[in-house]
Amino acid sequence: MINKKNNKKNPKISPYWFYGGIIFLFILLQTFSSGIASNDLNQTTPSKFFEYVSIGDVEKIEIINKREVKVYLTEEASSQDIHKGTTKPYFPLAGRSANYRFEFGDLQNFENRLKKTEEENNLSIEVNYVTEQNIWGDLLLSMLPFVLIIGIWIFIMRKMSSGGSGGGGQIFNIGKSKAKLFDATADVKITFKDVAGLEGAKEEVQEIVDFLKNPTKYTKLGGKIPKGALLVGSPGTGKTLLAKAVAGEAKVPFFSLSGSDFVEMFVGVGASRVRDLFKQAKEKSPAIIFIDEIDAIGRARGKSNMTGGNDERENTLNQLLTEMDGFGTNTNVIVIAATNRADVLDKALMRAGRFDRQIFVDLPDVRERKAIFKVHLRPLKKATNLDIEFLSKQTPGFSGADIANVCNEAALIAARKNKKSVGKQDFLDAVDRIVGGLEKKNKIITPEEKKAVAFHEAGHATVSWMLEHAAPLVKVTIVPRGQSLGAAWYLPEERLIVRPEQMLDEMCAALGGRAAEKVIFDKISTGALSDLEKVTKQARAMVTIYGLSDKVGNITYYDSSNGNEYGFTKPYSEKTAETIDEEISAIIEKQYQRALKILEDNKSKLTELADVLLDKEVIFKDNLEKIFGKRPFDKEVINS
Ligand code: ADP
Ligand code: ZN
Repeated sequence: MINKKNNKKNPKISPYWFYGGIIFLFILLQTFSSGIASNDLNQTTPSKFFEYVSIGDVEKIEIINKREVKVYLTEEASSQDIHKGTTKPYFPLAGRSANYRFEFGDLQNFENRLKKTEEENNLSIEVNYVTEQNIWGDLLLSMLPFVLIIGIWIFIMRKMSSGGSGGGGQIFNIGKSKAKLFDATADVKITFKDVAGLEGAKEEVQEIVDFLKNPTKYTKLGGKIPKGALLVGSPGTGKTLLAKAVAGEAKVPFFSLSGSDFVEMFVGVGASRVRDLFKQAKEKSPAIIFIDEIDAIGRARGKSNMTGGNDERENTLNQLLTEMDGFGTNTNVIVIAATNRADVLDKALMRAGRFDRQIFVDLPDVRERKAIFKVHLRPLKKATNLDIEFLSKQTPGFSGADIANVCNEAALIAARKNKKSVGKQDFLDAVDRIVGGLEKKNKIITPEEKKAVAFHEAGHATVSWMLEHAAPLVKVTIVPRGQSLGAAWYLPEERLIVRPEQMLDEMCAALGGRAAEKVIFDKISTGALSDLEKVTKQARAMVTIYGLSDKVGNITYYDSSNGNEYGFTKPYSEKTAETIDEEISAIIEKQYQRALKILEDNKSKLTELADVLLDKEVIFKDNLEKIFGKRPFDKEVINS
């Protein structure tokens, strides 16, 4: 995929140029400063020098920095053979250059010896004392600390502003948004065809596509256009893919970035990035802004935020809300955000006109996994007899991303074995490998666990089917979602008054899961925690709130003035507390026994249902009707 950086216009200095420049400068100055010194003069030795002096070849010398001597020969001597090559070209401006140079040890000794040689030969040689300064070197040395400090500063700024996301040298771009732009015409080639499964979600986003394609159709009638949609689901379930597909279908530009990109160490950066992002998007409208992991900025704003440490995040969130409120119906920019924790988000985000549409993107069931396999098997050279059905059954709990990974891994494994096509065993090996890596981050279900979950959920379904007052069932699934491994979905009747029979039937159905485990495996598990919690709460409410227990009587301990919070003192005696506890456990136990009885009586149907569930992972009312026959109590209204 080609992603264009949208900040072309901003001047940028590559860090490599910058550091390279500094180093280059150093080298340049170094050579320069020593170059005008006498490095390129012919070297000689003190003894040779005194030889030249004694034969009268030397005209004058310069003693440089009390360390070195530069020797100037007389004109006749220069042209002699022994001094050949020592005469440098004569530059009028630079003056005459010396012929030789050498270093002596001690200045005193050297002067004495020179004097002696002069006297012996009756000569007089001009001696100049010169202090040659290495200007460039000194200058550089005094500048070095500053250069270093500036260098380090820039380095840190760069680190902060690029946040490791690959963009180098964004010294001047801190406040700019880091959104990647996928241009409609060139880059976004993803359409709904590439998104397998997710039918419900696709249907919901279809409206957004329609709007982006033809906004006037909606605004003409005075309707308000959605501004934001929130995709909620586990990682890898295809939220980004879906958002891209929306852009691809509508053929509009797609700005993509992650919530954490907004949050920086500098105050005000997040807010200014939000502003910049929306500005860019408006320029390209109609457009889609996709914010992944919105929880990074959208977490509920703390009520008791004493430290003020999250101020920056709050400012960013406020800016986002302002921008979303700010753009009118004709801006044609739609924000799609993704999260796997809708519960932690600030309520303000979900208000009308913001992310008021929530679209759930669940882990795929067998049928959907098969479809996803088909998408990702397309580019592979697969064995002709590859059973996709089988593969999708082998991968419960896998997300779309995991399946994409399996396909890729299988191809690599097959290549390693020098195969001509990717076969069943390669896929199984790939699944094993990926499961090994997944166990920590994802929910991977072993076949036994899957069976236990299937019977548990089938237990709920069977019991509720058999009970007149239990809420009618709409869907049973063993696809994990959030914290639960499976779920039975009921259609609760809207009741204003709840009768004890209804409460008891519902409790019985809720206990059906654990009862099924007991009936089938003669073992119970921890899987019924949330069921038990629900049942216990309900039983306690029956006894202490609604006055529905014989032993406690028509008493409520509910206090509407303080929301039923007792604090330290309970409004009843120790003795009553005991009675309440007894009553609660008696109610629950009775319903548990009832559930057990129902399941014992319908064991074969329960097993049949669990088998269908194991096979299909999701079943609906129709499947139940096939096994149990029509539910006698269902009224026509519910069937329609
Ligand atoms: P999320 O944003 O939910 O974490 P992504 O959309 O980034 O997940 O999905 C990662 C990859 O997984 C996608 O690029 C795609 O290859 C694959 N994938 C996920 N869901 C599906 C799906 N429903 N159909 C096809 N591929 C999928
Ligand atoms: Zn349960």
